[in-house]
Amino acid sequence: MSEQLKKIKKQLKKELDKNRYQHTLGVMYTASCLAMRYGSDMEKAMLAGLLHDCAKCIPSDRQIHLCEKHRIPIREVERKNPHLLHAKLGAYLAKTEYGVKDPQILHAIEVHTTGEPGMGLLDKILFVADYMEPHRDKAPDLPKVRALAFTDLDGTVRQILYDTIHYLNQKRGSVDSRTYDTYQYYEKEHYGTNHT
Ligand code: FE
Ligand code: FE
Repeated sequence: MSEQLKKIKKQLKKELDKNRYQHTLGVMYTASCLAMRYGSDMEKAMLAGLLHDCAKCIPSDRQIHLCEKHRIPIREVERKNPHLLHAKLGAYLAKTEYGVKDPQILHAIEVHTTGEPGMGLLDKILFVADYMEPHRDKAPDLPKVRALAFTDLDGTVRQILYDTIHYLNQKRGSVDSRTYDTYQYYEKEHYGTNHT
């Protein structure tokens, strides 16, 4: 593990609660496995995994305050559901507080909750690793997702978005329209047409 990774790992241990820290390590190692499989840069995948939730344990009102202070635009859906903010605030903090300059890493962190149409390889690796890391146990279809992730990355992204939309809808949570946009894109890519 590089010195940079070690240093950030130590910093995060102080910032995150115990469960979030465990999740973070799970995402870091899962992202590195997917990077091995798909020929992506392992160091970048580990940094993205390590930092993706760096803003998650900041209280909601403070997340809103920090976004406003640093002129990070807040959409209506994010104001109503501040837990969505930790992705873009996390990307900002990864750059300013943790010294990560790589635009691919910062972008992967920024889109890790909703994904976005036409994601790059690192974006998809983080998105999938976040969903299936070993400590996760509540999401439906986990065994299927975990197996599929090592054979069909785009298909896995599509499956996760499908499950997220249906699972969150069942809980009457508010699904970000970006999640739907991403789902439509990967659905279309998969079937060559729109089935929704
Ligand atoms: Fe997150
Ligand atoms: Fe996460």
